[in-house]
Amino acid sequence: MIVVMKQGATKEQIEHMVERVEQLGLKSHVIYGTERTVIAAIGEKRDEDRHSLESGPGVAEVVPILAPYKVASLEVKPEPTVVRAGSLTVGNSHLGMIAGPCSVESAEQTISTARAVKAAGATALRGGAFKPRTSPYSFQGLKEDGLKILADARAETGLAVVTEVIAAEDVELVGRYADVLQIGARNMQNYRLLEAVGNVETAVLLKRGPSASMDELLLAAEYILNAGNPNVMLCERGIRTFESHTRFTLPLATVPYLHERTHLPVVVDPSHGTGHVNLVSRMAAAAIAAGADGLIVEVHPDPETALSDGYQSLTFEQFEQMMELCTRVAEAVGKKIIPSEE
Ligand code: PEP
Ligand code: MN
Repeated sequence: MIVVMKQGATKEQIEHMVERVEQLGLKSHVIYGTERTVIAAIGEKRDEDRHSLESGPGVAEVVPILAPYKVASLEVKPEPTVVRAGSLTVGNSHLGMIAGPCSVESAEQTISTARAVKAAGATALRGGAFKPRTSPYSFQGLKEDGLKILADARAETGLAVVTEVIAAEDVELVGRYADVLQIGARNMQNYRLLEAVGNVETAVLLKRGPSASMDELLLAAEYILNAGNPNVMLCERGIRTFESHTRFTLPLATVPYLHERTHLPVVVDPSHGTGHVNLVSRMAAAAIAAGADGLIVEVHPDPETALSDGYQSLTFEQFEQMMELCTRVAEAVGKKIIPSEE
């Protein structure tokens, strides 16, 4: 249920209603909006609870939340969430541009990429130090050494670091170096991991599982929000279909669909979504036209020799061209690509 407070409800009235919600055995989640404050009362729905809350001081109305996800829903928070993490701002009119290698391979490879993507206008650096690979024989990442390289690249360029965490027990370690914790597609339904990133304050980029429905993605986000971390970005990275001309199928209708249901920002990954370097730039532009709040793109100094995902990684020059195209499309749809300063 949502307890909608009257405009001008006092702090005491809000606190009182939070107490009432908790006395009923429900979890409260207060959202201070620009116009009104709402208290999401989360738990099993009982009609008598609804009636008892309705008569509370300062309460305008009590309405049921129809969506299966609660804190993630627009019903609870109609204003778009803006996630800020160092140089990265994502949401509302801010378009975040996250770029970098699939994997951190060496200091030279990562720092040269950070410099190049920053010069081209990226607002954050990506790079995997812990890699979830399909085969146990593939490169698994440099782990903490890779995280240190990312932190050095941030120190030099000022770019926020987006990097994946693949296990709940690594959240503390990765969180010491990262500005954004990436939850990979394969881990979208690793509920202990979702709770673990929900228990910290570091922003989270939650990638859609290749076979997950929209409700499943939003419920995965709900785990993080419900544990207490409000800084969640959703990421469409393509799903598995019968089609084989691309590595995955990138459904861009996801973007406006999600914007109609959630306040969380939506990022698109045209690199994994297509798996072909030639398709990345135009799908990036299409994602912005569809209303995406950010992009995450793989870039490598020498894609041919990349230890992972080289075939979908842009060269520095290709990334620069992509940024030129994306900047024009962003302008046309009223979005700004500007780095935020901490
Ligand atoms: C990645 O970003 O390199 C990655 C492994 O992505 P995904 O989890 O979407 O496959
Ligand atoms: Mn990759």
